[in-house]
Amino acid sequence: MANNKGQIGVTTENIFPVIKQFLYSDHEIFLRELVANAVDATQKMKALASTGDFKGELGELAVKVELDTDKRILRITDAGIGMTEEEVDKYINQIAFSSAGEFLEKYKDQIGSIIGHFGLGFYSAFMVASKVTIDTLSWKDGAKAVKWSCDGSPEYEMGESDKAERGTTITLYLDEDSKEYAEKARISTLLGKYCKFMPVPVVFGKETEWKDGKEVETDKDHVINTVEPLWTRTPADLKEEDYMQFYRALYPMNEDPLFYIHLNVDYPFNLTGILYFPKIKERMAIERNKISLYCNQMFVTDHVDNIVPDFMTLLHGVIDSPDIPLNVSRSYLQSDANVKKISTYITRKVADRLEDIFKNERTALESKWDNLKLFIEYGMLSDEKFCERALKFALVKNTEGKYFSLDEYTAAVKDNQTDKDKKTVCLYATDTEAQYGFIAAARAKGYDVLLLDCELDSHFVNLLEQKLTDVRFARVDSDSIDNLIRKEEKVSLEMKEDERYDLENMFKAVLPEGNDYYVTGDNLGEDAAPILITQSEFMRRYREMSALGGGMNFYGQMPESYNITVNMQNPLVAKIMDAKANGVAPQAPLPPEADKDASEEDKTKAREAREAVRNAHKADIQAFAASNEILRQVTDLALLANGMLKGKALSEFIERSRKVVTDAYLK
Ligand code: ADP
Repeated sequence: MANNKGQIGVTTENIFPVIKQFLYSDHEIFLRELVANAVDATQKMKALASTGDFKGELGELAVKVELDTDKRILRITDAGIGMTEEEVDKYINQIAFSSAGEFLEKYKDQIGSIIGHFGLGFYSAFMVASKVTIDTLSWKDGAKAVKWSCDGSPEYEMGESDKAERGTTITLYLDEDSKEYAEKARISTLLGKYCKFMPVPVVFGKETEWKDGKEVETDKDHVINTVEPLWTRTPADLKEEDYMQFYRALYPMNEDPLFYIHLNVDYPFNLTGILYFPKIKERMAIERNKISLYCNQMFVTDHVDNIVPDFMTLLHGVIDSPDIPLNVSRSYLQSDANVKKISTYITRKVADRLEDIFKNERTALESKWDNLKLFIEYGMLSDEKFCERALKFALVKNTEGKYFSLDEYTAAVKDNQTDKDKKTVCLYATDTEAQYGFIAAARAKGYDVLLLDCELDSHFVNLLEQKLTDVRFARVDSDSIDNLIRKEEKVSLEMKEDERYDLENMFKAVLPEGNDYYVTGDNLGEDAAPILITQSEFMRRYREMSALGGGMNFYGQMPESYNITVNMQNPLVAKIMDAKANGVAPQAPLPPEADKDASEEDKTKAREAREAVRNAHKADIQAFAASNEILRQVTDLALLANGMLKGKALSEFIERSRKVVTDAYLK
């Protein structure tokens, strides 16, 4: 073979500076590209042997990565199909760049993505090497070994090689800036990242063992990869423990996952993988981007956010598909028809698996539900299709720790908890301690109370109200129990506006400042508490949802508002009202309003005179309230029941109560 010189078929003037410049951040992928080429060539060799086209000895097929740190040489050797002189010319000299020139111009800023996708894989070696040589011997009968070398200019040299074994050796003379790739540890890390599951053994160095307190090399090759990772195996041959072990190997720091799914499809696209449902306890602890994307067992990326629906990025595991376009721009990925199909498929598979668990492993599902719930609720809230499916298998837990599906639950409470408007009212608590009294009151009526204590629950409740017909949710402490589930038309207490106004002023005088209160009188029964403090479902939900939505918006900034229901049938209230009737003079008659055509000055005067009468009466009421111990005591008890009595007010209450107890027992 005559020594050859030539110009690499590049349409752009000089591609190497471009490669170097644009790929700066991604230099390390050169190793993946070269090992992937070696693996490909080896797989092709195996294929030739299996079809009978090649009848000789396959021999040892491992890909070898070798390093000479001092000389800064990195070598990758395979026993694959090799290349003839014509092939080197075709694949390395011509093809590599023929499609690239145009692209380089067009996608300068994404050049990193284009490499590997348009046959530039091999040339990525020039990102780290000042000189690259190829020594290759084709499997074909009578082939001669070829040596190709190039120092980074568009000129190459081609000639004879002394390579005696079939296959290819790529030698990289690492440049000054790429010294790091001459370090054993660095190469080890990269092989671990990109080549851990490649389908042909990749050897780097020797196995080590401990001898006489030292780590010494053995003569056994160190294979860095698992050639048959779990997702490539038949699910029927695998046990739960295999999946758990694989998870631990992928994420050594994590707790075991709750469930797994083995994905396996070959039509209309090819995809395998294993997804795990991790334990998720709170939003803060969520780890996203734990799914690794592989292409034929070659690691591509940890970022699958454009390939699976958002909520799926909470899952962990591996997806392997040659049908996902690699390294292309995000917008391209999102619009790709295959990617859409893949995304739909994965969502469906996840739903199938959960439905299957619901039907066949109910006990396991219930025991793991609390850690799974955030994922399911997030999925239901963010993905319409998933939501439709999940309505069947999503569970709710009541305050007694019992689990129900949504259908089971509404069926169970329907008879007893349907109100006069034919709405089934699902009562819920968010905190069994703080809302203990309200839960007890509901239970005493024979009602069931759900526990919805997860961060997404206020959104979730809204969603369920949209999805389930004739179902309404109400937090147990949002009204008196009879009002929460009204069975018949309410006969509301007749109370004149000035009476209600007196009542409001009286209670506002003893309630903590800084909140809004709406005070009404009602007949809740002689035995019921004198005062009930509740917070309207509507206002609370808006406040919670806007808080979740981030930042303080309109509702977040509003003062808390409470409804104060005074039970007029309670004897203590009756006593307070008596004392008020005896101790506070009725409001003096208001002076007349000014005539329509009176002067502005007179109008103002008349208004002020009326205001003065009202204020004088209000001051009387406030003075009465301040001096009425029963009023203070029953109000404080109601505040205490809601966990709202704090600091000075609490300590004054304790002081007063001690006196009351002393009077009751010692006098
Ligand atoms: P791609 O691998 O994307 O096709 P490359 O630039 O990496 O692009 O390689 C171009 C071609 O060179 C390959 O398709 C293959 O035919 C040939 N080639 C590269 N490396 C090897 C190798 N180690 N053994 C045999 N052929 C190889």
